[in-house]
Amino acid sequence: MRLSTYFLPTLKENPTEAQIVSHRLMLRAGMIRQSAAGIYSWLPMGLKVLRNVEQIVREEQDRAGAQELLMATLQPAELWRESGRFDAYGKEMLRITDRHDREMLYGPTNEEMITDIFRNLVKSYKDLPKQLYQIQWKFRDEVRPRFGVMRGREFLMKDNYSFHADFEDAKKVYDTMYATYLRTFARMGLRAIPVAADPGAIGGNLSHEFQVLAETGESEIYYDAKFDELSANGQQPDPVALRELYAAADEKHDAANCPVPADRLKSARGIEVGHIFYLGKKYSEALNAVVAGPNGEQITVEMGCYGIGVSRLVGAIIEASHDDNGIIWPEPVAPFHVGLVNLRVGDAACDKACDDLYAKLQTAGVEPLYDDRDERAGAKFARMDLIGLPWQLLIGPRGLEKGLAEVKNRKTGERVEISIEAAFDKIVSSYQARHR
Ligand code: ATP
Ligand code: MG
Repeated sequence: MRLSTYFLPTLKENPTEAQIVSHRLMLRAGMIRQSAAGIYSWLPMGLKVLRNVEQIVREEQDRAGAQELLMATLQPAELWRESGRFDAYGKEMLRITDRHDREMLYGPTNEEMITDIFRNLVKSYKDLPKQLYQIQWKFRDEVRPRFGVMRGREFLMKDNYSFHADFEDAKKVYDTMYATYLRTFARMGLRAIPVAADPGAIGGNLSHEFQVLAETGESEIYYDAKFDELSANGQQPDPVALRELYAAADEKHDAANCPVPADRLKSARGIEVGHIFYLGKKYSEALNAVVAGPNGEQITVEMGCYGIGVSRLVGAIIEASHDDNGIIWPEPVAPFHVGLVNLRVGDAACDKACDDLYAKLQTAGVEPLYDDRDERAGAKFARMDLIGLPWQLLIGPRGLEKGLAEVKNRKTGERVEISIEAAFDKIVSSYQARHR
């Protein structure tokens, strides 16, 4: 993509309405545009990141045996009357009346709708278990939408719903999802701590929130310092061990019953990026979702639900990865892998070297963002740092005389002057290492 034609409306000044760094940087980097409070349009570069995050979530859901579908955003009120949630949900639900005076709502979540699909189309225990997920926009009329896409009113969620003949099977899928979530967030360069959450009316200990540590997080969490030790050593503990370690973390800290020794207990603020939940028969009983068992008996199915805040993750990744100059994208979610910067547009040698590299990188499957605009070098550097692509490939007249290019790593700040061929190889091999 050539910057001269790309729709990338970056801002030099800090927008005053943004209170936290991710919101500020998303506006400044031209990723989003507010439509109304808590409602955003995603501009081309923001959408690329959103799609990358979404794709990682999708690949890990598929790997765990879930199947993707796409449910309607608008739902009939009757369905929610069956579960009793039409009245219970309160003002967060956006209610709509159609031209025939039928009551509708914009889905804040989809337990009722998926249970309705299931009860009408699945009749036998032989079809169990089933895990069905979607990545779809939700609407919740939050009292205080804030922090940009982190607490929006319209937001993108991955929601998976599972159906089982018995508790043991539900538990097995719950554990698989737990491990899947750790993998999913790790692939985005995030450390997410599973925190035992309040399972509400259902009881038991089968609800976990996944929290990314950040000063601007809205939840206060308590956790075992071992988590910091493991991740500081770059260790990827196996999920089961991790579970034993962090099951102790609890949002509502109860000092008297805390399983973590006091000298290892840490508290921090977290951003909730995912939530897994064993539902039991709450919805299957209310909506009568039954299948025929092996002896013809009726089985009310067990259910689980598993959510990930896909659009919130884009903000959370920035909260976790930025510096004073801008965003630092982890490679797997970066909108472009490399920014190719022509430092002297109009100079025949620079233009030729850049055009060649641009074409060669594209042929190698690496989509570069090519800054081909006639602008001073300082402004180009500032914009590249702001939008945070993992690599910058800088071509200027002085280096070029000696056949050299400069390669800058956005994260470490390390710059090396190497031959054009070596620079090309370095960019391509780092891309291939990330996108096998
Ligand atoms: P929160 O406690 O942050 O309000 P929640 O517990 O109501 O979230 P869930 O119903 O568990 O949210 O939804 C699943 C995921 O969707 C959450 O873990 C979160 O990442 C994301 N999410 C929820 N509400 C919002 C929102 N208003 N804006 C963006 N993402 C959201
Ligand atoms: Mg939650």
